[in-house]
Amino acid sequence: MSADTNKESVEPSKDTGMEEVVSLCARRGFIFQSGEIYGGINGFWDYGPLGVELKNNLKSFWWQRMVRERPDVEGIDSAIITHPRTWEASGHVEHFSDPMVDCRACKKRFRADQLDEAPKCTETKGGVHDLTEPRDFNLMLSTQIGAHADAASTAYLRAETCGSIFTGYRRVREVARKKIPFGIAQIGKAFRNEINPRNFTFRSREFEQAELEFFCHPDQTDEWFEHWSEVRLAFHRDLGFGEGNLRTRSHGEDELAHYCKKAVDLEFLFPFGWQEIEGIHDRGSYDLTQHAEFSGKELSAMVEETKERFVPAVVETSVGVDRTALAILCAAYDEEELEGGDTRTVMRLSPIVAPLKAAVLPLSKKLAEPARKIAAELRRRWNVFYDDAGNIGRRYRRMDEAGTPFCVTYDFDSEEDHKVTVRERDAMSQERVPVEGLAAYLRERLEAHL
Ligand code: ATP
Repeated sequence: MSADTNKESVEPSKDTGMEEVVSLCARRGFIFQSGEIYGGINGFWDYGPLGVELKNNLKSFWWQRMVRERPDVEGIDSAIITHPRTWEASGHVEHFSDPMVDCRACKKRFRADQLDEAPKCTETKGGVHDLTEPRDFNLMLSTQIGAHADAASTAYLRAETCGSIFTGYRRVREVARKKIPFGIAQIGKAFRNEINPRNFTFRSREFEQAELEFFCHPDQTDEWFEHWSEVRLAFHRDLGFGEGNLRTRSHGEDELAHYCKKAVDLEFLFPFGWQEIEGIHDRGSYDLTQHAEFSGKELSAMVEETKERFVPAVVETSVGVDRTALAILCAAYDEEELEGGDTRTVMRLSPIVAPLKAAVLPLSKKLAEPARKIAAELRRRWNVFYDDAGNIGRRYRRMDEAGTPFCVTYDFDSEEDHKVTVRERDAMSQERVPVEGLAAYLRERLEAHL
């Protein structure tokens, strides 16, 4: 948690507003309110059929790059409720808070450092809030374990996924027979009782993080910090972010979290301004020192040549899966004017994350059988949509909104020449491709970035 949160909404918005993205997400079932039929629950979101595919693709891409392609990184999947001592040792029970103020007139609650964005008071004449003094509000969500609700049964839903990476560090290192430097990675849910959840999924109370904790000798931290910063920038560029919407921002001394020696944010230009989507942190030896002290366990390592003992330092890369998914959706959203005055809404999603890679659309229901066969064949490899209902133009538009890179049309000529028409989403170009070579044709285009 960075101490600085004042930086929101400081940049001009780009053309696409959030309303369009939020509306498309609900309309097409990417993301919608959790518990919608009851009016929703503030700070909680559900991913629909397209959303879950997009998010899973994003997580798989991260896992591929950060774990599978890396001989020096191991993955884990740990419990959401971590031993309560974890959060005492990490300092979260004591420090993980935001300053909160209440308005005595309208009874609303705000973050003291985000007052400039608060709506006006509805109860006072000039609309000025009658605010209390700021109080620290701890962001950890707690629960009770077992039948007796007392202090001893209080546990926390993890506020960041890295806690259990530190508590599991020793075992993972042993079972994976790793030597320093090496990293442990995890993707999973985190929970923060944010005072003002807002900007759609950007600031939620339940969200997912993909984190790497890289353990190294304290003398090598700067080197590894540089290395991981480059790796992470390359990741975002491969997703399609570029100079116009991606930048880095170093934290000033006064912004650093209590455990942090150095921090760089990767920021994306959302319609509501430049905002952090990932933090890269030099956590020093803070974590393992604290956990060694609180657990009484030996967590140090040894330099083989000199037999010098040291507590490993940690370089962390921590990306929000939901925030990145939102950035992807914002970047992809486009409304394009077509010849004849029509406009189409198209999600220009990278094939890496596109929920559907292709759609098979027979021109007529009479052609359903061979078209279904083609869809079944393609489904062995990709998530493929099949649709034989209605006007072909409307079916193309639906696939444009879903961000599907290719539409495959089976028509009456296909019966004779065993070819299909492949329509590419962005240029709307069409090409006749033999059914036999269709999978290879798509593979070449869909998997070029992997
Ligand atoms: P912020 O300053 O925006 O509150 P942070 O500095 O507290 O973020 P970190 O603790 O560094 O964030 O968490 C790492 C990543 O987790 C962030 O870059 C972000 O993508 C994600 N994240 C943090 N808090 C939330 C949240 N409330 N909702 C969604 N994603 C979040």
